[in-house]
Amino acid sequence: MGTIKCIGILTSGGDAPGMNAAIRAVTRSAIFNNIEVKGIYHGYRGLISGEIKPFKTENVSNIIQQGGTILKTARCKEFQTPEGRQLAYDTLRHEGIDALVVIGGDGSLTGARIFAQEFDYPIIGLPGTIDNDLYGTDLTIGYDTALNTIMDAVDKIRDTASSHERLFFIEVMGRDAGFLALNGAIATGCEAAIIPEISTEIDQLKELVENGFRKSKNSSIVLVAESPTTGGAMQLAERVKNEYPQYDVRVTILGHIQRGGSPSATDRILASRLGAAAIDALLEGQRNVMVGIRNDEIVYVPFSKAVKHDKPINRELLDTLRRLSI
Ligand code: ADP
Repeated sequence: MGTIKCIGILTSGGDAPGMNAAIRAVTRSAIFNNIEVKGIYHGYRGLISGEIKPFKTENVSNIIQQGGTILKTARCKEFQTPEGRQLAYDTLRHEGIDALVVIGGDGSLTGARIFAQEFDYPIIGLPGTIDNDLYGTDLTIGYDTALNTIMDAVDKIRDTASSHERLFFIEVMGRDAGFLALNGAIATGCEAAIIPEISTEIDQLKELVENGFRKSKNSSIVLVAESPTTGGAMQLAERVKNEYPQYDVRVTILGHIQRGGSPSATDRILASRLGAAAIDALLEGQRNVMVGIRNDEIVYVPFSKAVKHDKPINRELLDTLRRLSI
């Protein structure tokens, strides 16, 4: 592989606050190093159809504070086929793009990994997902903002919940990862978090009810990670109605508000550092790695590790939540 003169950048899969800060950082850092930048719209779909535009520093002005992604995002079935990926490769050759920076979650980086192997093509991934479920990085871009959004919403629900004697299940996103639910529960002083990581070990609902809700409280709030493993808030509420009819249960599903909003300072700084590091990685000759952060240091995580391994939940957090909700 010769020197890299031009890179393409795209965002893919679920959007996350801070993706724009990452786009800005990648673009500016590339231009700083005399590398041309092309913005690819609508993720892998735009790579296949050629929705591409040259990016100058002005293209990324005034976006660091905006949620969503100016490059738009998409889910693209065609990229999951060898024919689709061949079309994507043809576009890259046609546009003279020597390397790609892909910002996205587990699915997007899985696609990047397959493509990079298939065509021996250099790709650097950035972890962009509110779920925080990529292995090898302490944080993903968007997670901190989503956590803060959850905190604000739960605080508001608590105001109304405490006026009645109710059990509230609040469902948060996470797609099979309990980070948002667990840390959200700690941040808002919830009774418990029901998370997929331990759903197969114990019946969390049974445990919660049998331990008895805190007597001194007149209402209880439980955060539930949306996942087939937990069953989600609706299914748990059904169980309560059938198995523990003495409780007056209510459900709130926070939904897409968790993806929106202006990124937090933590996410803006994280995205800026990771975006700049993506260009350093390319200049150092790194290929097919995700740039992450561990103990406040930039790390390069091979795609094979980042996407294949389940990131473990910190059990100390579970224990803290249990101890503090007595
Ligand atoms: P996220 O990146 O947020 O996890 P998705 O799981 O929806 O989002 O993945 C985004 C896109 O990545 C998919 O629409 C598809 O184009 C691509 N992708 C996901 N998995 C694969 C795969 N196994 N092979 C090729 N491309 C994939």
